[in-house]
Amino acid sequence: MRVLQSGDRLGTRVRMKKAIIIGAGPAGLTAAYELLTKTDIVPIVIEADTQVGGLSKTVDYHGNKIDIGGHRFFSKSDKVIAWWLQFLPLQPGFEAEQLHIQYQNKTAVHPFVRTAPANPDEVMLVRKRKSRIYYHRKLFDYPLRLSFHLLQQLGLLKSTRICLSYLYAKLFPLKPEETLEQFFINRFGRELYKTFFKEYTEKVWCVPCNQIPASWGKQRVKNLDITRLIGHAIRSIFVRDTSIDQKDTSTSLIEQFLYPPFGPGQMWEKVAAEIVKKGGQLLLQTAVTGIQGDNGHRIVSVDTMDLRTGVKTNQEADYFFSTMPVKELIDTSRDLPVPDEIKKIAGALQYRDFLIVGILTDDLLLKEKDGTQVSDNWIYIQDSNLKAGRLQLFHNWSPGMIAEPASKWIGVEYFCNETEPFWQLPDKEIAAVAVREMESISVLKSSSVKDTLVVRVKKAYPSYYGAYQDFSRVQDYLNTIENLYPVGRNGMHRYNNSDHSMLTAMAAVENILSGNKDKTNIWEINTEEEYHEEASS
Ligand SMILES: Cc1cc2nc3c(=O)[nH]c(=O)nc-3n(C[C@H](O)[C@H](O)[C@H](O)COP(=O)(O)OP(=O)(O)OC[C@H]3O[C@@H](n4cnc5c(N)ncnc54)[C@H](O)[C@@H]3O)c2cc1C
Repeated sequence: MRVLQSGDRLGTRVRMKKAIIIGAGPAGLTAAYELLTKTDIVPIVIEADTQVGGLSKTVDYHGNKIDIGGHRFFSKSDKVIAWWLQFLPLQPGFEAEQLHIQYQNKTAVHPFVRTAPANPDEVMLVRKRKSRIYYHRKLFDYPLRLSFHLLQQLGLLKSTRICLSYLYAKLFPLKPEETLEQFFINRFGRELYKTFFKEYTEKVWCVPCNQIPASWGKQRVKNLDITRLIGHAIRSIFVRDTSIDQKDTSTSLIEQFLYPPFGPGQMWEKVAAEIVKKGGQLLLQTAVTGIQGDNGHRIVSVDTMDLRTGVKTNQEADYFFSTMPVKELIDTSRDLPVPDEIKKIAGALQYRDFLIVGILTDDLLLKEKDGTQVSDNWIYIQDSNLKAGRLQLFHNWSPGMIAEPASKWIGVEYFCNETEPFWQLPDKEIAAVAVREMESISVLKSSSVKDTLVVRVKKAYPSYYGAYQDFSRVQDYLNTIENLYPVGRNGMHRYNNSDHSMLTAMAAVENILSGNKDKTNIWEINTEEEYHEEASS
């Protein structure tokens, strides 16, 4: 509701203020919902895709659902948890005190208002996270635990080399620590780095670890208490923890997270429906193709194009929220005095694209030692002969992710760039590579494959190397545009999880509401870099 100001005359029709929101991902939809519920500003959300959710959408293929990257819903923010649960209440049968969202050795108990779900399918499931590393045809716990079991799995020779190289790294750390490779070696020793960190990191970023700055590691890799790990390893030789609750186990190994039955997109579809119900506008398959300034420090309108008809329009507004990549935002700006230096930095920002192959199969060869099905949500593939980086087991995320419960629905993930020949191959050929690779490491039999789907995702990861080192100049420039709010992940070129993306949108709306012109608080969200999706950790 708009609070009437002293200057408003009753009976005078007050012109409704408008906000254009570029992108219907978590940040854009959060901004729209917050505007609708806290201000009298009408949001118009413009989305190029055919569906909402952005990177957090669910792709539905004949009832089999793909979650791009596997989106766990977790947050240290009570506000975010409560926000999610107002749309999809907690699954029945779960007590409030069980809602411990555990992440990287931190446990948060989130207060929330319990509401009974109106529809049993419209809830948040509480799921246990399980992920392992597939290395030399064995499954290793992830996060890695320096335990007796790990050393046993690696064998005596490899284990001895790992221990010795770890001790060597502790006694003679590489100095100065300038590259990510040196960062890893100083913390884990050369052998462990080469076994579990090098290849995966290089697959994700396509840059050798010795060319990535060490500061990247400090931001991305949590501090491991190696003394505790060694203590745990020694203890595990004598005491085997077989309890189900694993009370003595590091909480990072028994994490829980929230998850909608039909994948993350279910949340964003629900939010989008509420936005429309409350009077917001949502334009799908419409791209923002240009940003029109006033030759000063304000944006006046955006150019849009209906991607179905090719019809172009220009839409004016009072406020502009952008979740489109910073590179494209600057590139499409007109009549804004963008300094050449800013254009150059923004133009050189880099991204990593991502491709996932959904495979529907009768069964998986990959099983536990006792022959039972593996229950992992995802598995890292540590094999230099394969291009695949990670394997999602969607049927383990939620039963709702698969159409026929008797089958298995997995996603083979490839980190690549859209310019790479692999990305440009026809879908059939990409799917054939994925099936072949999974067969080569005995995950499945190609004869049991029933169907495949290829999903390409551009700009999944904003990169922190190259021009990024000068990004603060772009940030300073964007802050000078009074009515522009860059929010979210690519909108801020920040490695934001969906909760961070949402918090940036919430902070932007709060600033508008309070008249705060300083945007520092928005950029400060997620600078502590404590938790992120797993791809790079
Ligand atoms: C592999 C992977 C795994 C992840 N795992 C997790 C996880 O476990 N938990 C978690 O919380 N987060 C996770 N994330 C992060 C999460 O996906 C993002 O934080 C979140 O989706 C960002 O929201 P956003 O709205 O800023 O941007 P996006 O989700 O990128 O949405 C932006 C939207 O803007 C649209 N758009 C862009 N340009 C234009 C234009 N010119 N005109 C119109 N529309 C445009 C796009 O089509 C898109 O829909 C993961 C991300 C990846 C890539």
